[in-house]
Amino acid sequence: MTARRESTLPGTRLAASPKRPVEEPGRVAGECLCGAVHVEIDFPARWAWHDHSAASRRAHGAAYATYVGSWRKRFRVTKGVAKIVRYDDKATGTTRSFCGRCGTPLFYERTRSPHMVNVPRAILQGRTGRHPLYHVGIAELQDWTYTGGKLGPLKGFPGVVWERPRRKQRPRDDGMF
Ligand SMILES: [Zn+2]
Repeated sequence: MTARRESTLPGTRLAASPKRPVEEPGRVAGECLCGAVHVEIDFPARWAWHDHSAASRRAHGAAYATYVGSWRKRFRVTKGVAKIVRYDDKATGTTRSFCGRCGTPLFYERTRSPHMVNVPRAILQGRTGRHPLYHVGIAELQDWTYTGGKLGPLKGFPGVVWERPRRKQRPRDDGMF
């Protein structure tokens, strides 16, 4: 008799559909993980990009962050403004705002672009009118970032795919020459 292999990983359960903010035409709504803070921008956004900089990587706890830039006058906090906490990053001249309850990054502002507010694409629902075609800080791309390589199923783990290493690396012959 062979032991049955665990075929599910913890935490892979699909999340139930969260309550969504009411969408109004011409507006793009977003919210943090816990729902305490809602934001909104007018459609379309000005532009969108992927940010590979170390500051955004750390602030998001992710390989990179994808942002949508909005004119400040077209951006609003529609719920939970009192829950927002801010962090002034003097080194990069930015102020980052987070939900003080769940920690979701909500938006960030640059002192050198006072008319713009940058919102993580991931907290916005629906179309923003701008596709993230641009990459900022690409020199800081991490070698563990998934960049679209071929994926195959991982045997014994339904729903999990993996990027098979391209080829085996030989150990270096450091001691010989
Ligand atoms: Zn929250």
